[in-house]
Amino acid sequence: MTEPIKTDVLIIGAGPVGLFAVFELGLLDIKAHLVDILDKVGGQCAELYPEKPIYDIPAIPQISGQGLVHALMEQIKPFNPTFHLGEMVTTLEKIGEPLFRVTTDRGKVFEAKAVAIAAGGGSFQPKRPPINGIEPYEGKSVHYAVRKMDTFRDKRLVIVGGGDSALDWTLNLAPIAKRLTLVHRRDDFRGAPDSVNKMRALVANGGVDLKIGQVTLLEGGDGQLTAASIKGNDGTVTRVECDALLPFFGLTMKLGPVADWGLKLDDDLIPVDTGTFETEIPGLFAIGDINTYPGKVKLILCGFHEAALMAQRAYHYVFPEKRLVFQYTTSSTNLQKKLGVA
Ligand SMILES: Cc1cc2nc3c(=O)[nH]c(=O)nc-3n(C[C@H](O)[C@H](O)[C@H](O)COP(=O)(O)OP(=O)(O)OC[C@H]3O[C@@H](n4cnc5c(N)ncnc54)[C@H](O)[C@@H]3O)c2cc1C
Repeated sequence: MTEPIKTDVLIIGAGPVGLFAVFELGLLDIKAHLVDILDKVGGQCAELYPEKPIYDIPAIPQISGQGLVHALMEQIKPFNPTFHLGEMVTTLEKIGEPLFRVTTDRGKVFEAKAVAIAAGGGSFQPKRPPINGIEPYEGKSVHYAVRKMDTFRDKRLVIVGGGDSALDWTLNLAPIAKRLTLVHRRDDFRGAPDSVNKMRALVANGGVDLKIGQVTLLEGGDGQLTAASIKGNDGTVTRVECDALLPFFGLTMKLGPVADWGLKLDDDLIPVDTGTFETEIPGLFAIGDINTYPGKVKLILCGFHEAALMAQRAYHYVFPEKRLVFQYTTSSTNLQKKLGVA
């Protein structure tokens, strides 16, 4: 078995609440690792509304989703958390008092004295395009994410979609692909104007083929694609030989593996004690959008409060022999030293 990564607290989910938990834990000398399915931090703020303004973060009259994520990353810098991005936590089991073993879909194993589930609305999962018979190719020659660009070197690629992901990967993969065809249902792209311009320049100089229409048929065998048929809006069908298809149709949120961790759920949410934000399993916490309790409101500020109380309780699992002394950051030189300001 892979050598386990040992940590005080493992945080599942690097959304705003998981990030702030690092700060509250750090003030108490508790080290944290974070795992997130996404290849970036920030959860819903970064993935769903990076440019939208948020108006209800205490003492910050207005900040964008991504701005909040940047500020949180700056705030937790002194605690030097370790991020494991692009990985989904699949299993969680209690193996001692207090000790948890957690594994990811990429084979990492963690052992933590406490675990904070900050999984929000669950896992972001790619939307499957409406192409009959796509399932057998998924994970083999149909990919919803690019984990390693080199996998696509010298391959004939078909990228489908009109948003930022489709455009970014078109621009990044075109130089290494043997041939790249971008397919979108209309000749109007939602992505950043600069990316649209760069893509159009590539099309103009022959570096990328642009097809307006929809992929209607896949050909191949044993999970390996050989061609895709694209039906244009005028009804004409073009057959494009390809080795891989990369659809970027956005993400949906599904509860995912959280449902398999032996917790009694209430409407897909994890019930917690509101004094500690601990679940029914000692040492296992749930904070942010994933939890439920009487009066729960799914707001970032509520998640921040939950993270603070979770950290106070987690301290007893990490340092069972020590007594926790409450301190303010304004007046404690000890805390200020940890923050690097004293
Ligand atoms: C359009 C929109 C506007 C909003 N506006 C506001 C607002 O103005 N003010 C406000 O307070 N709130 C707002 N919200 C709600 C706010 O974004 C959420 O309350 C907040 O993001 C919850 O944070 P979180 O960290 O609990 O979860 P999330 O932000 O959902 O992050 C959870 C993370 O956990 C990861 N994850 C899940 N399962 C796993 C797993 N098994 N393994 C690894 N990682 C996993 C996910 O990939 C995700 O990144 C808005 C939400 C939306 C969609």
